[in-house]
Amino acid sequence: MQDYHSPDENGFFGVHGGQYVSETLIAALAELKQAYAQAKQDPAFWAAFERDLKYYVGRPSPVYHAERLSRHLGGAQIYLKREDLNHSGAHKINNTIGQALLAQRMGKMRVIAETGAGQHGVASATVAARFGMDCTVYMGAEDIQRQAPNVFRMKLLGAKVVAVESGSKTLKDAMNEAMREWVARVDDTFYIIGTAAGPMPYPEMVRDFQCVIGNEAKQQMQALIGRQPDVAVACVGGGSNAIGLFHPYIGEANVRLVGVEAGGTALSGSQHAAPITSGSPIGVLHGFRSYLMQDEHGQVAGTHSVSAGLDYPGIGPEHSHLHDIGRVDYVAASDDAALAAFDALCRFEGIIPALESSHALAWAIENAPAMRPDEVILVNLSGRGDKDINTVAKLKGIAL
Ligand SMILES: *Cc1c(COP(=O)(O)O)cnc(C)c1O
Repeated sequence: MQDYHSPDENGFFGVHGGQYVSETLIAALAELKQAYAQAKQDPAFWAAFERDLKYYVGRPSPVYHAERLSRHLGGAQIYLKREDLNHSGAHKINNTIGQALLAQRMGKMRVIAETGAGQHGVASATVAARFGMDCTVYMGAEDIQRQAPNVFRMKLLGAKVVAVESGSKTLKDAMNEAMREWVARVDDTFYIIGTAAGPMPYPEMVRDFQCVIGNEAKQQMQALIGRQPDVAVACVGGGSNAIGLFHPYIGEANVRLVGVEAGGTALSGSQHAAPITSGSPIGVLHGFRSYLMQDEHGQVAGTHSVSAGLDYPGIGPEHSHLHDIGRVDYVAASDDAALAAFDALCRFEGIIPALESSHALAWAIENAPAMRPDEVILVNLSGRGDKDINTVAKLKGIAL
């Protein structure tokens, strides 16, 4: 793709990205940027990364032909990239392994992380235990109430969970607090960000760690069907599972790329988490510039999604750029469409998908019938849905 590029030296993908942070964080980010640039050139770093992906995470994750679902829909063949089979149940571990290895290399044996629903907190606590690191997770007090099982998981894994009482007491406040804590203890502390967002160099670094998804998929599709899919589709919260699948495909002009945002209950107002599809303006949050849901005063808007992992008002800068240059199509799936897709995968394939991943599946289910049976849709099944059964039961009016 001719006009696509990695970020410039200031961390911009087109007009998105950069490093909008207080002066106190500039030095920490510069140190991180330099350490990552060195690690990136070091084959030993990638060898250690690949070893853990293989023996700890269980990679490569398979690509699976969802034959019964495809036959039921009567159109394109649907294939699933099974990130749900990774240790700890989602793609997030790919990134936390990479950042923990970098922390170790930098001699920082204390890690901190922000978390919303708790998935990134659990993935961070997991690798901290694996590498013998001290781990503190910042989590909104509101989310701590709503996500008790994940709070307990983090504690079982040895992490400390700090309740954040500021603002709306949710993910965006937890991220602010983690950044504040990082400033105060940058000497011994590494901040593990959970998605392809945040100030430079995080978006590029997280993407690089998640690219294992797309790199494996390319080999696996070639082996399975002798070519690449017609469409590759992934859900987009901050955008890490999607960019991990998309990035290796960007130069493959014949592969259509579709990013699915959380459409919530309506695309007007703030009952969704779909900054691009809803036509949000550009803004700055958490140290980077990108499309950002805002109210009429330019304040960060409230959001809603049935899936906690997609419930974020912004989107990683590389996605905003891929939207601007027209290489990726961004669409939204509603809560209801995601829930229907969740049910369909349970019943036709015996796989309980994460509600996040169900948004990508919803696009496939909606669009496969109009495609030919020799066409192929590859869906990134970013995580398993065991964590979501309480949410789904409640929506169905069933008491567990
Ligand atoms: C956190 C999460 C997401 C959303 O995050 P991205 O960075 O957009 O990938 C999607 N799927 C699952 C299973 C998650 O846990």
